[in-house]
Amino acid sequence: MSRFDLHTHSNVSDGSFTPSELVRRARAGGLDGIALCDHDSTAGWEEARAEGEQCGLEVIGGCEVSSRWRGMPVHMLAFFFDPLSAELVAELKRIREDRILRGEKMVAKLRELGVDVTLARVREIAQGESLGRPHIAQAMVEAGVIARVSDAFTREWIGTSGRAYVPKQVLSPQETLHLVAGAGGAAVIAHPVWIEQETHASQEIIEECAALGLAGLEIEHPDQDSAARRRFGRLADRLGLVRTAGSDYHGDDRGGMLGTFGVNEGTLAALRARGGKR
Ligand code: AMP
Ligand code: FE
Ligand code: FE
Ligand code: ZN
Repeated sequence: MSRFDLHTHSNVSDGSFTPSELVRRARAGGLDGIALCDHDSTAGWEEARAEGEQCGLEVIGGCEVSSRWRGMPVHMLAFFFDPLSAELVAELKRIREDRILRGEKMVAKLRELGVDVTLARVREIAQGESLGRPHIAQAMVEAGVIARVSDAFTREWIGTSGRAYVPKQVLSPQETLHLVAGAGGAAVIAHPVWIEQETHASQEIIEECAALGLAGLEIEHPDQDSAARRRFGRLADRLGLVRTAGSDYHGDDRGGMLGTFGVNEGTLAALRARGGKR
């Protein structure tokens, strides 16, 4: 039976490895395919696919699109969409530009808090085109205020209610669904446990999205324990959503689990069949 990890990141966004290195690691880990889901970017698809052809790994074009609902970040995984779809391309570009402005604002807030970070250094660390909090966190490690990248994601620093946190200007999950469907893709709510941790209304947002054509729900994810998987699995079944699985791999320094989460070809086909449906 084939195995496809439907949630991975490269250094186009906040992953550690280039798209080709990621593909080689996935192959070495015994996977048959991966979906490359960089945050708000499709820039890694071509390189990943070229390497995939070389080493015999299927690369599914994906993207983890940032959205926001009632002030809370919601990550939407989009698959099988046309990367040239004008509306979607324009929105992703706008989000990436906002990521830089928002990065600049977070750097300014950190500097006010006495942390010696600069936007120039953060942009160097980011390399790729999608600048994010992990890059700022890395600069904070270099500045010596925290020991590890994960220590930045607190109320003290740049966690979602942190002193130096600035939200991204993004669409709602409902509007994102509409854009993805318009580009012929299928959308899945990523790591629903993150939403559950922020609000009691997580089920409401999932139900609302399901009514608007959501294709699936990410059931297996490293942050979701067996109880969470059962809970979200039942919800997915009740709402007719495809149960997806992915490692959310960012690199070995971030609890690397590439190859341990995945779906089979049947699930992949079910997801593909939901592409473009409204
Ligand atoms: P951003 O999209 O810029 O708001 O950054 C969010 C990203 O930060 C997520 O996609 C994760 O990759 C990363 N992240 C979130 N929480 C943590 C954490 N506790 N430790 C390390 N990385 C995290
Ligand atoms: Fe990330
Ligand atoms: Fe995410
Ligand atoms: Zn992710």
